[in-house]
Amino acid sequence: MSSLMEFKDVDVFYGPIQALKKVSLEVNEGEIVTLIGSNGAGKSTLLMSIFGQPRISSGEIIYRGEDISKKSAHYIASSGLAQSPEGRRVFPSMSVEENLLMGTIPIGMEHAQEDIRKMFDIFPRLEERRNQRASTMSGGEQQMLAIARALMSRPKLLLLDEPSLGLAPIIVKQIFKVLQEVANAGMTIFLVEQNANHALKLADRGYVMVNGEIRLTGTGDELLVNPEVRDAYLGGH
Ligand code: ATP
Repeated sequence: MSSLMEFKDVDVFYGPIQALKKVSLEVNEGEIVTLIGSNGAGKSTLLMSIFGQPRISSGEIIYRGEDISKKSAHYIASSGLAQSPEGRRVFPSMSVEENLLMGTIPIGMEHAQEDIRKMFDIFPRLEERRNQRASTMSGGEQQMLAIARALMSRPKLLLLDEPSLGLAPIIVKQIFKVLQEVANAGMTIFLVEQNANHALKLADRGYVMVNGEIRLTGTGDELLVNPEVRDAYLGGH
């Protein structure tokens, strides 16, 4: 399997606070990899550092064979990385369709209509609401829109920050079902989640982060039955 993205011994500081400590992890082409950990473990920091905010203070972030840790956010966004950020930040006063079009910015409009059609096939709710302002949609619909918008840039790697955050269990189930479909279609996904149960069931491999360090790694199935993971993240079930 060829490596698409790799963190090598990455440190990140916020002033005197070290948020990432010698973090190494890898995402191979075609994989779904998840990073789980509790509040404040450093998951969002890791994801944001890919786009250079915050800058890493040592180590490397290799993406398609190149160290991107010193590149501009613009360069990185146009290199096939797309992020659906935490808090499903859609453009609230724009319609669903306009939000999707915004997703094409890194690649241009050439395939826009074809790709909107594809998004409507994957997310039928978005088609029903194509002319509706994003702000008037439910949390789950906005999350789907945020994911679809990220896919509109035809990414090589889809980065997701807590897509389940604040959503009802039944909606979370739907979101993960859709992510499975997206993965089945060949997308490589790096998923940051607090919902360890769903994330590990979906993922080929996972990493567990504690206080800025990678504590455990394994296949999704291995981590699901790992006693430490069960006690800390799966409510001991
Ligand atoms: P959450 O699930 O709440 O987003 P997380 O695992 O993503 O948590 P981070 O948000 O990456 O964790 O935070 C890691 C650590 O860095 C925490 O101790 C946090 O308080 C600290 N931190 C995050 N952002 C900043 C910042 N801008 N300035 C200072 N400290 C920060």
